[in-house]
Amino acid sequence: MTETNSQTTAMKGTVAVVGSLNMDLVVRVPRLPVAGETLAGHTFDQVPGGKGGNQAVAAARLGARVAMIGRVGADGNGASLRAGLQAEGIDCAALDTSEAAPTGVALISVDEEGRNSIVIVAGSNGELTPADIARHEAVLASANVIVCQLETPPDTVLAALKTGRRLGKTVILNPAPVIGPLPSDWLPLVDYLIPNEVEAAALTGLPIGSPAQAADAAQVLRRQGVRNVLITLGASGVLAALESGPTHFEAPRVTAVDTTAAGDTFIGAFAAQRAGGVAVDSAIRFAQRAAALSVTRPGAQPSIPTLSELT
Ligand code: ADP
Repeated sequence: MTETNSQTTAMKGTVAVVGSLNMDLVVRVPRLPVAGETLAGHTFDQVPGGKGGNQAVAAARLGARVAMIGRVGADGNGASLRAGLQAEGIDCAALDTSEAAPTGVALISVDEEGRNSIVIVAGSNGELTPADIARHEAVLASANVIVCQLETPPDTVLAALKTGRRLGKTVILNPAPVIGPLPSDWLPLVDYLIPNEVEAAALTGLPIGSPAQAADAAQVLRRQGVRNVLITLGASGVLAALESGPTHFEAPRVTAVDTTAAGDTFIGAFAAQRAGGVAVDSAIRFAQRAAALSVTRPGAQPSIPTLSELT
């Protein structure tokens, strides 16, 4: 891949996202309900979400051609999610429809202090199989960068990682959500592992309260075979442990309004930049600018910026 240090001269690369699509059903409540309680909520919104969908939208708005490999149900939510991706210019030829399972949903309650409780029902996301990955191998073959998360079945993620490695693609894994270490045979398949600090702590069992501690955790993951580790640290930026060594990238200072989808924006932006041949450090800085802008605005997908807002 030809590299350039200038974001503005990035070529249009292709990103394939293998992952989840959910309809987020968001209620605003005076406080989170306790067991057995019925509460009157303030508002109800239906918003397209899922880590896969959010990252695909971010990559598309930030300059990449994007193809989505995933599953929705044969229902209204599925049709609406598909239409939303298509409106972003995302290729949905490999977005299959499950007949039996409903489209994935996330039931999200947000209280007046901004705290949330979330229940996710995987639905059709749970029906994405290794056979689907094999059937859509041409989509992976035509991408420069492949992005996976952990909201689809582990066997399917592993199949996507293996296919990406075999095809010589740049493979990004956002290990989210994660509750413990990844299987040891996964890590050598990954070019860029991008956890947030909670996920990095779960992967390594190490505390992550500072960039120095993040560097220690990242080194542990690199020794397990991942080529590069980018730990996102919210307002404290990104700790990048690259093949060339560890570097702490400070985040731009902004007034955060809603940090939902900050990580998804960072990952989609980084993938788009790498697919376009941009050097790693420039891609990280660009992705941080995109994520910082997203936290100044409310919502998940609505907060993700476009390329024209960043140039
Ligand atoms: P996640 O959304 O997965 O929890 P983070 O909160 O670590 O991910 O955010 C991802 C990236 O978004 C950070 O590395 C940073 O670049 C940017 N970001 C997040 N919160 C802020 C903030 N308050 N100010 C500036 N940038 C932020």
